[in-house]
Amino acid sequence: GGFIGLEVAAGARALGASVTVVETTERLLGRAATVALSDFVREAHERRGTRILLNAKVTGLTGQHRVTGVELADGSAIPADVVVVGIGALPRTDLADQLGLEVGPLGIVVDEHARTSDGLTVAAGDCAVGPNPFSRGVPGPTRLESVPHATDQARAAAATLAGHPAAYATVPWFWSDQADLRLQMAGLPHGADQLVVRGDVAAERFSVLSFRDGLLLAVESVGSSADYLAVKRALEKGMTIDAAAAADHSVPLKRLITPAHGTRTS
Ligand SMILES: Cc1cc2nc3c(=O)[nH]c(=O)nc-3n(C[C@H](O)[C@H](O)[C@H](O)COP(=O)(O)OP(=O)(O)OC[C@H]3O[C@@H](n4cnc5c(N)ncnc54)[C@H](O)[C@@H]3O)c2cc1C
Repeated sequence: GGFIGLEVAAGARALGASVTVVETTERLLGRAATVALSDFVREAHERRGTRILLNAKVTGLTGQHRVTGVELADGSAIPADVVVVGIGALPRTDLADQLGLEVGPLGIVVDEHARTSDGLTVAAGDCAVGPNPFSRGVPGPTRLESVPHATDQARAAAATLAGHPAAYATVPWFWSDQADLRLQMAGLPHGADQLVVRGDVAAERFSVLSFRDGLLLAVESVGSSADYLAVKRALEKGMTIDAAAAADHSVPLKRLITPAHGTRTS
């Protein structure tokens, strides 16, 4: 029930396969998305004919020379010709361990310049965990798994090695194409205390904006690139959008961008 599993499921379903997604937690995309997007994604896949099982744990595979089925913890079984295991990845930290670098439960610890604990070695990408300016005060380090993050943090690492440290300060952004749906996300929604849904969920064209203490944290857009771009731009400029005003879909979000403390700018 993560991005990889759902993208494969959508592709297989589009080719006519009978597809079941088995997710061990209570919702899809639980690590990355808000509950609002998780619920929508489940319904969208079900509408397209994919069976989604939540709170269901795989305990084994059956078959002699090739797989014939998947066994679940509740004793049930799902016949299968092909099984795709998309259950996340763990960073390989053995090299960092050998160097005596600080390694936390999530990965190799770095600062905003991609510097590790010895002050000389850099780490970037999926293996690195560090501060992210776009967590907007939500405590705790962040480890992101995305191509844009890996390349942007690598630039910060290269600048550090070249002796011109420039803090990593790129708005996290992600995309996922699932069937005919284009999901675009910017910012980090963790720690949100308010969600605003704008647009038409039934028509599969809408956005979910996340806020904490009234401050804009993130956007998740489905078929609504203008919303995604407006929020990404607001976050890049350290600005915000009023939550109540954002709910009115007739007003473009780019017209609602204001400094984090008040006055509208455009
Ligand atoms: C199936 C799949 C689909 C994905 N789809 C998307 C997507 O659509 N969009 C997106 O943004 N992201 C996607 N991702 C995530 C994205 O691939 C990663 O975030 C990105 O590749 C991270 O780059 P990286 O350089 O940090 O790590 P990697 O790309 O994993 O590269 C690390 C390299 O280091 C090597 N290595 C490890 N240990 C050592 C060592 N001790 N010595 C030397 N080499 C070593 C590894 O073998 C590997 O080649 C996807 C990931 C997967 C698995």
